[in-house]
Amino acid sequence: MGSEQGTREGLELARALSAYPRMIRRGDKFDPIHVAKQTERIVCRNGARKYTAFYATGVYGGIATGYVVGCCLRCFFCWTDISRDFPEAYGRCYTAEEACENIVKAARKWRVSKARISGGEPTLCRKHLLELLELIEERDEVKLFILETNGILFGAYESYVKDVAGLKKVYVRVSLKAGEPGAFEARTGASREFFELPFRAVKALLDHNVRFHVAAMTDPRIMPPEERRRLIERLAEIDEFLAVNLEEEVCDPYEGTLVRMQFYGLDPIEFFGRRP
Ligand code: SF4
Repeated sequence: MGSEQGTREGLELARALSAYPRMIRRGDKFDPIHVAKQTERIVCRNGARKYTAFYATGVYGGIATGYVVGCCLRCFFCWTDISRDFPEAYGRCYTAEEACENIVKAARKWRVSKARISGGEPTLCRKHLLELLELIEERDEVKLFILETNGILFGAYESYVKDVAGLKKVYVRVSLKAGEPGAFEARTGASREFFELPFRAVKALLDHNVRFHVAAMTDPRIMPPEERRRLIERLAEIDEFLAVNLEEEVCDPYEGTLVRMQFYGLDPIEFFGRRP
């Protein structure tokens, strides 16, 4: 019985993976909630999650970082490494305790007091993230945990935002990818009917008094001025302060970005030859 079940699960996973979206070309689209579930089947195991590394970087004035595997979007400008597209081939699973120890070790080594997980979507593997955040709350070495997210799962599940709301060290940074549904689909691969989810996440974070701000990929080489205007207006409908304090992102030529752009059908050399 056990081995039959194992075989069935193996076949199901193989079937799921055969339709698993990797890098996108123009016109590709998928359901990001379904892709989140598919990705979780690959990168989450009984409360553990796949990571490829733990280190500290200079962003945010120095921050200890756990580099996670897997995302539910496929932005063509994404800077993360190729593990985003082939999560089954990279990383190994760490429990929340192990991840916390490694993050704290990195914080001590580089004498920083901020921490985050990055390199993929931190809100995948809810059990793992919540356990990790609870553990971080108890560690004096980390004063602030910056939770970077694309807002898809927080927008889909308000209860997830409530779970995070009581945690004192958590500060959320929601990164928007588009100001209109068609552009959202074209840039991320997620079908346009899911466009509102990150805005719903913003509203839920506000309603539950979570500390956060909003960022957006408004690089003019990617987002036309009219769309940028609409994005800011949409944000202002939720909260004026958030719109005024929008952090505007610029696209950089990371290795993963160059490869994804080329695959998408954009010439990265021509793209980065233009000034933002
Ligand atoms: S840019 Fe962020 S949201 Fe988009 S695919 Fe990369 S990790 Fe995911």
